[in-house]
Amino acid sequence: MTMVNESPADTALRADPAYEAATQVFNLFAPVSPAAAVTAHSVDEVRSAIRHARRQGLGVRVQATGHASATARPMGDDLLIRTALGADVEIDALRRVARVPAGTRWASVVEAAARHGLAAPHGSSPTVGVVGYLLNGGLSMYARYTGLAVNSLRAVELVTADGELRRVDATDDPALFGALRGGGGGFGVVTAVEVALFPATAVVTGAAFWPATDAARLLPLWRRWTETAPATATTSIRVMNLPRLPEIPAVLTAGPILCLDGVVLAPGEDDLDAMRQQAQDLLAPLRAAAEPVMDTWQEAGPTLVPDTHMDPPEPVPVLGDHMLLGELGDEGIAEFLRVTVDRPGSALTVAELRQLGGALATAPPGSGALGRLDARYAYSGAGVPGGDATEQEIREHCALVREALGRWDTGRTAPTFVASLEQPQGHLDAEGVLAVDRVRLRIDPDGLFRGDVAPGSSLLV
Ligand SMILES: Cc1cc2nc3c(=O)[nH]c(=O)nc-3n(C[C@H](O)[C@H](O)[C@H](O)COP(=O)(O)OP(=O)(O)OC[C@H]3O[C@@H](n4cnc5c(N)ncnc54)[C@H](O)[C@@H]3O)c2cc1C
Repeated sequence: MTMVNESPADTALRADPAYEAATQVFNLFAPVSPAAAVTAHSVDEVRSAIRHARRQGLGVRVQATGHASATARPMGDDLLIRTALGADVEIDALRRVARVPAGTRWASVVEAAARHGLAAPHGSSPTVGVVGYLLNGGLSMYARYTGLAVNSLRAVELVTADGELRRVDATDDPALFGALRGGGGGFGVVTAVEVALFPATAVVTGAAFWPATDAARLLPLWRRWTETAPATATTSIRVMNLPRLPEIPAVLTAGPILCLDGVVLAPGEDDLDAMRQQAQDLLAPLRAAAEPVMDTWQEAGPTLVPDTHMDPPEPVPVLGDHMLLGELGDEGIAEFLRVTVDRPGSALTVAELRQLGGALATAPPGSGALGRLDARYAYSGAGVPGGDATEQEIREHCALVREALGRWDTGRTAPTFVASLEQPQGHLDAEGVLAVDRVRLRIDPDGLFRGDVAPGSSLLV
């Protein structure tokens, strides 16, 4: 692709430091390689980049942090716009809404909201970008209380293919607003979003760890608790094979380990006693069944929650898989144990079951293309190629788990958990895909953003 001398100041080609900066990704196993790349710091820079792409005959792609690079389509003929619209997060405490510029990571929203006694529907990593997470559904640490995080979107500001800056919400272009909410992307460059927050007087949050040899006793107890758990509690349970690194406590790297983490929320002052009791109901039977080797569960404020899951803050190579599962029962849990804990030399650094249900099960009135997750657990498994396992070994182990849990696979997926382009995707039904495509054809008739559409979300690509 020939580039002429009419590019915005910092539109860059390969080997240029500005190109390297704009194409940084979190998942080092899935680098991106667009024809050109630019970091946009303002709406004007976004517009100028879109004009430039049109002149050059390039498609337009968007990313902020590159956390989802493993599910991005190849970018060979595209201009990648990295959004870094560095303004502050603004909190409207009365409406309980945050206005968040594109490029902001969740940690900044959590900090800003907490100053007003509010919490945000963030996921397990403070460094994930707000916009990419929300547009693709977003499974929050509070998911069973908030529902899918995308339902918290109140407005989206975006520059569309015609260069126009639009603000869409439930009354202003509701069809586009609906398609933006979980429809699979490809509508333009989002420059800011407004997100509903919720009151959080206190939380009980943390992680407890046991040798994985205790998992056969603990996992069935946890599963039974999930059957009647309150919606104010959201947890996940993981079998982990952690590398021996100085930053990881030695007690967690001595062998395979089981980890239970999550949040129990007290929205108001009156909910504090209930929160403490709910945390007790979750933790006491597990602590009694086997003594944890490390246990950080504690009463705290919401700013502690983004660190609870201990996701890696720095880029790493990751290769994994994901399924949304129905009720596993004791039989499904036994299968999960068989292909994770009972398998010496596991290639999976993490095999996780996130607890679904609660508010996730129902799409609230007026929700968008994706408003709910119809499943009981979100499974994800991942390894680090070139770490303790090879790419081949990780792929084989992922396939083994997929086969073992196949009986419980709902065939649906949570878009933010899908781990690669090849993986089956199923977050929209056929009718939903068509409805979103109709909006795409209206908003982007030339398909400028078509490469940015998530696989499984469109008949147009
Ligand atoms: C360590 C880790 C922990 C995670 N934890 C969770 C979790 O708890 N819950 C959960 O649901 N997900 C989780 N995820 C997945 C994460 O939410 C998705 O990868 C999400 O898409 C990342 O958004 P991003 O903007 O940071 O990433 P990017 O890769 O930068 O963007 C992802 C996609 O979002 C779109 N996009 C981003 N910015 C814009 C914009 N300004 N305009 C238009 N489109 C845009 C683009 O289509 C882009 O391809 C996690 C991922 C990692 C690596």
